[in-house]
This record gives sequence, structure tokens and C-alpha cells, in this order.
Amino acid sequence: MSFAEILGQEPAIKLLKNSLERGKVAHAYLFYGIEGIGKEKTARALARALNCLSPQGVEACGGECRSCLKMESGAHPDLVVIKPSGAFIRIEQIRSLQRQLIYKPLEGRYRIVIITNADLLNKESANCLLKTLEEPPDASIIILMATDINELLPTIVSRCQAVPFRPLSPAVISEYLCSYGDNKFSPEQAALLASLSGGSLGRAVRLADSSLMEMRRDVCIQLISLSRQDMQGLLLLAENLAGRKEELPEIIAMLRTCLRDSLFLRQGLDERHLINKDLREILFEGARRWTEKEIIHGLELLHSAEQAVTRNYNRQLILENLFLQLAH
Ligand SMILES: [Zn+2]
Repeated sequence: MSFAEILGQEPAIKLLKNSLERGKVAHAYLFYGIEGIGKEKTARALARALNCLSPQGVEACGGECRSCLKMESGAHPDLVVIKPSGAFIRIEQIRSLQRQLIYKPLEGRYRIVIITNADLLNKESANCLLKTLEEPPDASIIILMATDINELLPTIVSRCQAVPFRPLSPAVISEYLCSYGDNKFSPEQAALLASLSGGSLGRAVRLADSSLMEMRRDVCIQLISLSRQDMQGLLLLAENLAGRKEELPEIIAMLRTCLRDSLFLRQGLDERHLINKDLREILFEGARRWTEKEIIHGLELLHSAEQAVTRNYNRQLILENLFLQLAH
């Protein structure tokens, strides 16, 4: 992965390239923005650029040198990636990192530590990491990635150079999708996926590769007809969706677009801006059944549910609560 391959993040890339050019790379960065927009790819491109044996300017080579080959295959001893273990990044993981940081990089000029989902550091691990950020080890660069900067300790944020990553434009995403895989998407389908993705290329690709697009109509109908008079149906829907563990965040995000569209219709706004244009009739039913206040509350509930499922809480319970509150 090189900087040139990262889509739509020009300001972030420019900032990093500038610091490479001036030889002023920060000890710690905080890459923040929604998931699926290139934060980890950028972190890996930076890691490559820092250790490449035959760099071209501030870009790494085309992936031919020994360092870049190892980086790409995940075998470079100086690239350390820390991901949550279960629902959190635990203190043992940070302690183990600190033991590594005592020593100089093994092969490269720099040791690069990428902490994905830094918003999932728990209190103990965050405080432990803070010590490292306060006294940064030589030749080591720590890159924290987070979707929600407000979930981090302010003391951690203030020790890092914050680099914002922005959601990608629908045009960038649909262009990518039109040439993705074996060209299976028409421009219309690519545009629909792009608008459903909320600016996240990762989400667009997951949607494109899954059966979720096919189930969108059914799930939207089920959402809009949720009724407290039909508890069995409500519980069954929760059970069915809870079983789709990997796809659940996407399904919830999809439901959010349905509610958002119903709100649009209820407010009589321009239908050209609907995300699910093809589901217009169903969405009108939603606009009739819910008040504006209910829809806004529903959107908040879906946002919390999406966060809760990505944190591995009990999925069925989350969905039952969600549907009970959304039901008429
Ligand atoms: Zn190289």
C-alpha cells in the first residue's frame, strides 16, 4: 500500500508527506474518522515509507525492497499492530508493547506501532499507554486510529498529532465500485451502494460483496411494520438478525438510511436526495406511521445500537430493545 493508492484523503496524505519531507515525523499520530476510509491503509503506507530501503522521494518503492515486502506480508518485525482483544484493548497488550519498545527497532529505521480502534482502550490500558506517549521511545512511531475521538482520554489526544480523515464523496466510491471485482455493478447500482455507504469505502465494498442488498427491501418492510401487537414477529426478527453477526453493523446502518429517508419524505424534502430511491413506496409508509420526533429518536436508537453491536454486547438483547422502542 502506497500513499498514491489511498482514495480521497489528500489533506491527510499531504500533511504526512510534508512531515516526511521535513524530517519532522511526530512520535504519535491520531488518525480519526469513520471506519472504512483508509486510516489503516495510510498508517501502513507511512510505515512503509519510513522504512523503505529504496524510497522514491517520500514514497516507498513499488514494493520490491526487502523491507516493503516484509511490511506487505505482515512479517516485518518492526511493524506492530494492536487490535482489540474481545471488546477492548487490554492492559496486558499495552504492557507487552511497552516491553518491546524498550529495545531498538530490529531491522528498520523506525518501529511503527499501529493501534486500531484506540477508542476501545479501556481505562487501565489507556492510562498505561499514556505513560509511553508522555515519554516516547526513540525511533518508534505510534499511530492511533479512532472513529470517535470523544471516546479517548483528552490527555491521550493532546499527546498525539491529530490527523482527520474525511468520509469519501459518493463520486469517489461509485467510481471505485464501477471497476471493482469483475465489473458487476452498473453506474446506478454503484451510486446506490455509494449513498448507502455513508462515505465509507469499506462499508460499500462489504455491501457489494454480501447478500445485504438483496435483503434490503424485506428488512425495510419489517422495520416499518414493527408492532407491539405482534411481539412474536418482533422477537423473531431480532433473533434472525442477531444471527448475522458479521453483517449486523451494516444491517443497522441500512435501517438507519430507511429511517432517514422516511424523515425526508415526512418533511416533504426533495425526493432526489433519497438514499433508497427504489423503496420510495415503503418509505412513504414509514413517513405516515412515525412522527418526526419518533423518527429522530429512532435514528439515535439505531446509532447507539450500532455502537453496541460493534462492541460485542449481546446482539439479540440489543435488537429486541431497539425494535420494542421503534414499534408502534
Ligand atoms: Zn521499499
